[in-house]
Amino acid sequence: MRGNGLKLIVFILAGLLYSGAAWAEKAKTVEVWKNLFTLTHGEGIDSNTTFLITKEGVIVIDTRVTPAEARKVKEEVRKQTQLPILYTINTHYHGDHSFGNQVFKDSHTIIAHENVRKALEYEAGKEHLDFFKTLKIPGIEETVVTPPNMVFKEKMHIWAGEYHLELIHMPGHTDGDLFIYIEALKTIIAGDLIFNGKIPYMGDAYVDDWIKALDYIGDLDAEIYIPGHGAPGGKPVLIAMRHYLIDLRRRVKVQIEKGSSLKETQDVIRPIFQEKFKNWKKLEWLDSNIERAYMEYNIK
Ligand SMILES: [Zn+2]
Repeated sequence: MRGNGLKLIVFILAGLLYSGAAWAEKAKTVEVWKNLFTLTHGEGIDSNTTFLITKEGVIVIDTRVTPAEARKVKEEVRKQTQLPILYTINTHYHGDHSFGNQVFKDSHTIIAHENVRKALEYEAGKEHLDFFKTLKIPGIEETVVTPPNMVFKEKMHIWAGEYHLELIHMPGHTDGDLFIYIEALKTIIAGDLIFNGKIPYMGDAYVDDWIKALDYIGDLDAEIYIPGHGAPGGKPVLIAMRHYLIDLRRRVKVQIEKGSSLKETQDVIRPIFQEKFKNWKKLEWLDSNIERAYMEYNIK
């Protein structure tokens, strides 16, 4: 199931999915807890960056879509502290979370799941950047793909200053997602396993895995959920994301059992979801999400 056929469709869909991004929104910095900050919005693509200030130094999670945007993150860090940046982490390989890596190369440690390195090194990384270049994001030409230089398979622990971070691999949005659990802060930094107020990007997603990941996250003792896109929030942010995926899976399966074509399935589910999720951004991504789920469950 996880073969090249899917990859081809991902590529075709991706152009549709990323088109229409808002270029002009300025980044906003939210102080989530003491010492924990999230930059939301930003020019190019609205992916979030989070940073934690420990007594020993700073940990940066995701690096935005261009070096220029990444430098803005560094400026935000420097407004808060002059301590060194100890670690940079990519929650997954997508360019809007990793193409600013070169700006954080001086931290010497860029950490991710091993599949992130595979997706960003050699030809794969070049192709991913080439795709982003077609989107004409301001500043993208400056990007030098910089894969993580420290990877893990299932779980990694970081102790820094007064904090303990657990980096846990759970695929779903991609095959190399990680989320970060900081138990002392009851906080989950979810990467793109959670979108808040936005239809999720599902270009290389697996719905079943994604729901499993959210079930796992939901069992952890947490109060704050920092999504990959959209504002940080409480448990409802997690519940809404999980509900979206479960409802998508259920409705697509019903149509497949009835023998509906992809187009018929989209025509049934699209209007229901347009109404149900009318306050979410990127409703134009619904058709491709329905297609992604249809591909996953329509196994003959
Ligand atoms: Zn993503």
